[in-house]
Amino acid sequence: MGLPPAILYALVFVVGLCLGSFLNVVITRLPVMLMRRWRGEALEALEMPAESVARFNLATPASLCPRCETPIAWHDNLPLFGWLKRRGRCAQCDQPISMQYPLVEIAGGLLAITVLALYGAVPQALFIYAACLVLLALSVIDFRTYLLPDALTLPLLWLGLVYQLLFQPFMLGDAVIGAMAGYLSLWSFYWLFKLVTGKEGMGYGDFKLLAALGAWLGWPFLPLLLVLSAGLGAVVGLAAQAFSPTLRGKPLPFGPFLALAGWTCLLAGDELFPLYMRLGA
Ligand SMILES: [Zn+2]
Repeated sequence: MGLPPAILYALVFVVGLCLGSFLNVVITRLPVMLMRRWRGEALEALEMPAESVARFNLATPASLCPRCETPIAWHDNLPLFGWLKRRGRCAQCDQPISMQYPLVEIAGGLLAITVLALYGAVPQALFIYAACLVLLALSVIDFRTYLLPDALTLPLLWLGLVYQLLFQPFMLGDAVIGAMAGYLSLWSFYWLFKLVTGKEGMGYGDFKLLAALGAWLGWPFLPLLLVLSAGLGAVVGLAAQAFSPTLRGKPLPFGPFLALAGWTCLLAGDELFPLYMRLGA
């Protein structure tokens, strides 16, 4: 393309910030939408009267301050700049606004330029970037709510299979086996753990997320994904026990570590894989 690289990267970073801003909406609203739906279904099953609630979805209502519920003006709602302009506080009530907002926006921008640098401006890069964004949304949702919504894990799996079909059909077999074995491996581990200890170590969302990563990367990556995510989880878990009074004693969600391992393999897999094969041999 004719654009000088610096301008191309700046543009892609800004688009990434905006998509990060949209992810923040998904991250904060999707769990609430699910809870409302489950509540409605539960009331229906119990044959209790339905509750009337205000419309709530990804588009309605417009962005509100989470504390005082004042609508946020468009110029305070610009990705990253709005947060910096207000120094992380609401224009109306002056209460702090979560660091999650600028951090997810910056992550959206950084992932965009990383994918561009690694893959170049090709259609494959858009698919890889979409996978990175879905993984970002899933990690933050799991961290906040211990949920990995089907509305994100299942499309991630299908998108992975479509990616293989379109760009590397020779990988399709590995991808299908990766999806099945990814699901089954954690499913078996879950039941074994439950039979032995009587506890639930993880949830069905984790199985679906590993299935999706298996579809994107192919079955040979599954052991690496599991070793990386379990290792990261153990390190962060120990650090949280030792240094963070707020996280101490709380169970850590597994999804963010699976997602981190997934990013690592998606973005650096070609370099990592030979190393990993050598370690195994
Ligand atoms: Zn406010």
